[in-house]
Amino acid sequence: MVIVTKTDATQADIDAVVKRIESVGLKAQISTGERHTVIGVIGDKTLLGDIPIESMSGVDRTMPITAPFKLASREFKDEPTVIAVNDTKIGGRQVPVIAGPCAVESTEQIVTIARLVQKSGASFIRGGAFKPRTGPYSFQGYGEDALKMLQDAKDETGLGIVTEVMTPHEVELVGEYTDMFQLGTRNMTNFYLLREVGRAQKPVILKRGMSATIEEWLLAAEYILAEGNPDVILCERGIRTFETHTRNTLDLNAVPVIHELSHLPIVVDPSHGTGIRSLVCDMTKASVAAGADGILLEVHHDPDHSMTGDGAQSLFPDQFEALMQELKPIAIAVGREM
Ligand code: PEP
Ligand code: MN
Repeated sequence: MVIVTKTDATQADIDAVVKRIESVGLKAQISTGERHTVIGVIGDKTLLGDIPIESMSGVDRTMPITAPFKLASREFKDEPTVIAVNDTKIGGRQVPVIAGPCAVESTEQIVTIARLVQKSGASFIRGGAFKPRTGPYSFQGYGEDALKMLQDAKDETGLGIVTEVMTPHEVELVGEYTDMFQLGTRNMTNFYLLREVGRAQKPVILKRGMSATIEEWLLAAEYILAEGNPDVILCERGIRTFETHTRNTLDLNAVPVIHELSHLPIVVDPSHGTGIRSLVCDMTKASVAAGADGILLEVHHDPDHSMTGDGAQSLFPDQFEALMQELKPIAIAVGREM
């Protein structure tokens, strides 16, 4: 349920409503809009019993949220969520780009790539320190050493850091370095991890589970939001279908669907979405045209020697540079900027 306040509601009115909600053991989440404040009631609303919220001072109306995801829904918040990270805004007019290798392999590698992608206009350097590999004998990432290498790349370039966190007990450590957490496709339903990043103070990029429906994905986002972290960015990275030519099927339907259902920003990852370098640029253009709020791309200066299997989907730096220029008129055509 959401409680919509009157336009002239005072802070004292809002505080009194929140107090009333909390007095029966429920949580209140506040969303401040231009005209109204909306207070979301989290938990079993029957606990409110006969408490007459609607007649409290400053309250305009109460409304049930029909979607199974509540805080993530447009019913809870109609205006798009804009997430500010360093000097970049995600969910606004700009379409920021996160670029870098699949995994951090050395200081030299990550600093070299960071310099190249920064020159071309990226806002964030990405790279895995903790890698969720399908097999246990594959390279699993350099862990904390890799986080320090990412820090070196940030110090050199000023780019923000995006890196994956895989377990709840590593959230604190990864949070010391990263500007945004990435939760990978394999962890979309790791509910303990979702709750832990929900208690952190940094934005979370939540990749879609490879077999997850859009509703399941939004419910995963809801776990993070319900813990009090409002800064969730969804990432479409392709799903498994009967098609085997590409690594995954990039579901660009998800972009306008998410915009209809949710106020949360959505970025697209055409690298994992296709798995094939020659397809990545076209699908990136399509993503921007579809209304993506950001792009996540794998870029490697020496992809043939990449330590993960993702070299085949990584752009060469000169391809990335050309793509960044080609995206500009597409962004403008759909009312955005790059
Ligand atoms: C990655 O970004 O390198 C990654 C492992 O992504 P996903 O979780 O989408 O497979
Ligand atoms: Mn990868």
